[in-house]
Amino acid sequence: MSRILARFWDPTGERHGGLPTYPWKMAPPHLLTLRQLTAEGLRPGGQGVQAQVLWRSRRHGAPGVRAAYLYDVRFALPKRHPSPRQRAALAKANQARRTCPVCTRDVGYVLPRHLGTCLDCGQEAAA
Ligand SMILES: [Zn+2]
Repeated sequence: MSRILARFWDPTGERHGGLPTYPWKMAPPHLLTLRQLTAEGLRPGGQGVQAQVLWRSRRHGAPGVRAAYLYDVRFALPKRHPSPRQRAALAKANQARRTCPVCTRDVGYVLPRHLGTCLDCGQEAAA
């Protein structure tokens, strides 16, 4: 193990304020980044950061240590999707915003607020 790896290898977090720390790509498989959780259709749930991976980076000019925070997939929860009822309510609200009160048509666009009607009815009223 190289010096860098040894420096970042701290599974108990002893040298990193109690946060378990691993070198890049050496974290146990149940620890995922937020991006990885999202790709699995998961969110962290109530858990805080469980561990971190550290690696050296030369991006942005100066070499430095970069960190990615890890969450335990065993505490993760499925991402919230709107229920069919919520979806129906949303669709109804959007339809109401597209429906002209004068000609009662769903005109397919959100009614301009300054008219309060569809463009056709607004034009007629102005004429
Ligand atoms: Zn109209």
